[in-house]
Amino acid sequence: MSSDLIAKALKTAVETKDIVFGDGVTDQTGEIFTKLFPGAKALVVADGNTFEATGEEVVASLEAAGVEFAEDPYIFPGKPTLYAGYENVEILRDHIAPLENTIVCSIGSGTLNDIAKLASGELGRPYMNVCTAASVDGFAAFGASISRDGFKITRSCPGPAGLVADNDVVCHAPKRLTATGYGDLIEKIPAGADWILADALGIEPINEYVWDMVQGPLRGSLADPEAIGNGDKKAIEGLMEGNLMSGLAMQAGQSSRSASGAGHQFSHTWEMEGHGLDWEPPLSHGFKVGIGTIASCAIWEEFLAMEAEDFDVDRALAAVKTPEQVESEVRAALKPRMQDEAVRHSLKKRTEGEELVARIELLKEKWPELRERLRAQLMAPGEVMDRLKTVGAPYHPELIEIDWDRFRQTHFKAQMIRDRYTVLDILVDLGVYGDVVERLFSPEGFWGRHRHPSA
Ligand SMILES: [Zn+2]
Repeated sequence: MSSDLIAKALKTAVETKDIVFGDGVTDQTGEIFTKLFPGAKALVVADGNTFEATGEEVVASLEAAGVEFAEDPYIFPGKPTLYAGYENVEILRDHIAPLENTIVCSIGSGTLNDIAKLASGELGRPYMNVCTAASVDGFAAFGASISRDGFKITRSCPGPAGLVADNDVVCHAPKRLTATGYGDLIEKIPAGADWILADALGIEPINEYVWDMVQGPLRGSLADPEAIGNGDKKAIEGLMEGNLMSGLAMQAGQSSRSASGAGHQFSHTWEMEGHGLDWEPPLSHGFKVGIGTIASCAIWEEFLAMEAEDFDVDRALAAVKTPEQVESEVRAALKPRMQDEAVRHSLKKRTEGEELVARIELLKEKWPELRERLRAQLMAPGEVMDRLKTVGAPYHPELIEIDWDRFRQTHFKAQMIRDRYTVLDILVDLGVYGDVVERLFSPEGFWGRHRHPSA
């Protein structure tokens, strides 16, 4: 089913040369290693849990292929849960630096893959990963998401040279990790709408090839949250495929645009604030992204309810803020360490005068057709909520300990932290974003009607 798509995608991947994906493919690990890194020694890196999941099989496969080991497998303590902290990157980097001609073969899901990716990347060495869960889209992506001093940062570094994704292993991952992968993937629905909008307004054209890599398998991968939640192998294979393809799309496009929109910006805001990073286990990326996806789809629903006549040029012009106002609002809303970058992004997006008038006129002209395309792309927020609940992921901000006031404020912060144009930005440009958020939280609005998880 799946390897055709991935085989095609590999042809345009910049860093990843080989992926084996299917049932019982762990025994091909050694073959991949010798092909990618001829003559190199291997260092197997895992944590207690991931080594238990498939460590012996990986070691046996490397042995069978005649790979020499630099030393015994390096096992991070698995309990409490391994934390994607920069201190762990340093520990691994300092451990492998003196080992000459040695390549890391990590065994893990998002956390270990990111630690191995960045530790190897900082030494200018390639690496490969054996995936143990369908938990993130970041396996094949360039860049690692790592915590430092209590908040999350993204460091750029090459993606893996090779990946092994064995369905027999992945479908036995803890349910929490599979549900996380669903949360990360479902955001590609509104993220696609964000890209359609940016394309239509001439801000960021759609790259059709990259678009198809993400959106092609997406609906199939998300189709059966119940089966995924129940550990069904075929359904989890589909989820894994969607997440691998998204990572490869980010490599091909050299951008996360194809896989990350406004819903991700909610998650990024909480990650930059350090929310849940010190929990045991740490609050996962996909759980936050899932909540951001509901928020984004609720905002989209409000936008799509508008008519072309509602796009009022005079109101938009009157609502334009001066650069000083933009800067002071960003600084008032965000933590000090987030401010400088957010001010830069927010000022870059700030639009005024003729440019703003032209943008709104273009939106009016395209609206009837554009709205149909967006409707076909999007999912109702209530459906996203139901699907997350079904798959076993948090489906309400309260369930990830984001209180009501903070959640509402995140709607504004999420717009400030990135320069990527999304539904949040068109509403700011139209001068109606504050009204939209107010409506969403009013008794008749989506969040007013879903004040508590049980409602
Ligand atoms: Zn993500």
